Amino acid sequence: MVSLDALSQTGEVRNYVGGNWTAVESDDGQAVINPATGDELAYVPFTGTDQLDEAIATGQEAFETWRNTPVVERIQPLFRLKALLDEHQEELAEILVQEHGKTFDEAMGELRRGIENVEVSCGIPSMMQAGFLENAAPGIDEAAVRQPLGVFTAITPFNFPGMIPLWFLPYAVATGNSFILKPSEQDPLVAQRIFELIDEAGFPDGVVQLVNGGKDTVNALIQHEGIAGVSFVGSTPVARHVYKESAATGKRVQAQGGAKNHIIVAESADLRHAAEQTVSSACACAGERCLANDVVLVHESVYDEFADLVVELADQQVVGYGLDEDTDIGAMISAPHAERVRGHIQSGVDEGATLLRDGRDVEVEGYDGEFIGPTIFGDVTPDMTIAREEIFGPVFGLVRVSDMTEAIDTLNQSEFGNAASLFTREGADARRFRNEAQAGNLGVNVGTSAPMAFFHFGGRKASAFGDLHAQGEDMIQFYTDKTIFIERWPDA
Ligand code: NAD
Repeated sequence: MVSLDALSQTGEVRNYVGGNWTAVESDDGQAVINPATGDELAYVPFTGTDQLDEAIATGQEAFETWRNTPVVERIQPLFRLKALLDEHQEELAEILVQEHGKTFDEAMGELRRGIENVEVSCGIPSMMQAGFLENAAPGIDEAAVRQPLGVFTAITPFNFPGMIPLWFLPYAVATGNSFILKPSEQDPLVAQRIFELIDEAGFPDGVVQLVNGGKDTVNALIQHEGIAGVSFVGSTPVARHVYKESAATGKRVQAQGGAKNHIIVAESADLRHAAEQTVSSACACAGERCLANDVVLVHESVYDEFADLVVELADQQVVGYGLDEDTDIGAMISAPHAERVRGHIQSGVDEGATLLRDGRDVEVEGYDGEFIGPTIFGDVTPDMTIAREEIFGPVFGLVRVSDMTEAIDTLNQSEFGNAASLFTREGADARRFRNEAQAGNLGVNVGTSAPMAFFHFGGRKASAFGDLHAQGEDMIQFYTDKTIFIERWPDA
């Protein structure tokens, strides 16, 4: 068991509602398992509609006072939260590794990226300003003011349980809304600890709340009339569902979905650098990243050399327990997910790709959890399942291409549009890539294009539903509406 004050004595995850830790009354729920050891860490009961109604009503009541709290006061608990997250970063990372399986360094990096969003949200007094124009018409001044809207919720995935809630939470409350987080039921413990720190940071009761649950809890949240807006991050089928259902009940909604990302390796590329970045992009976090680039479009003149390099580098990756220092690739999130990844690998073999490196039977001494080593396919064609569907494991495939036109066309045929990278020494290639590649996060000579918190997190096509993204300026637009205020003073 992970030891947390927020857990009940029986090891059950609790909700944080109205400033109190509350037991979830439910017969439905699931265990939280350490995927590297198989140990049960805790149990998550799923919140039902009565307790959800209570949390939403509490959020609405808190909103009435919070929206009129001066903005300089609203950001004070966020400054305190930033300091507490920094102070407890290592402890949070240890919890995260145990429930998720990634390595300690990856967990530390993820938390840093989350904390950056708290830092950016402390600038809301400047960022939330809209506009004012004197003499917009004869004797008339006109202003736009950004105003908060009510209770927002974020529904988040398993793969970055420490970072993704922070893509939303700090901006929602800094702009004057109240906020309810529904974290992934697969790894909810780091959110429990973050909410202990939120409690310590001293937000007014009901402004920031946590409810635990599965799909029924999500469906009740997105249909609830008391919710003003929904942020979702997860797989594409669920993102599509959340987008439709939330919009059907008149809510604001942004829903980021799954991905299938491409790397182009041009003839002029620094091949060793491209190979290092490819292996890291595809295999870090055991490939469970929406930014993992796993289809590699390699110019035919450098294909063989590149294939040898990626296999050589993948052979050096150490698969193991995330808390062991020399581990490069940790455990997969769960047995069913590892089985799905093995199924994808088998489909690659069945459809005729060449298995250059097989990570299915990797042995990790001392642990019998869910491990898969780096797996590389050669001779992949764009119509194969492994080139079209998200795998979410440490698996990538090499496709031969003859020029930039073929590479960009192949990339653009994808149903998804989350990320893409190009390795080249030619400026003209880079410029064309930026202009033509249909993906929301592009990198040149960068394998994983993860934007800093002061930029939005891109995404197009089946990777993002809605027109505003997570992080940065988009968040301020999502969490506020702009009211127009027109003034005339006849005696002035
Ligand atoms: P998921 O869709 O299974 O779950 C995400 C959330 O939705 C969870 O909180 C879960 O409780 C809820 N949920 C699951 N099934 C549901 C259903 N049928 N109805 C209503 N709610 C449901 O996703 P996951 O497996 O936790 O996360 C991995 C996915 O997230 C991958 O596809 C990955 O690409 C994607 N992802 C996308 C981004 C991005 O920014 N585009 C970032 C991270 C992860």
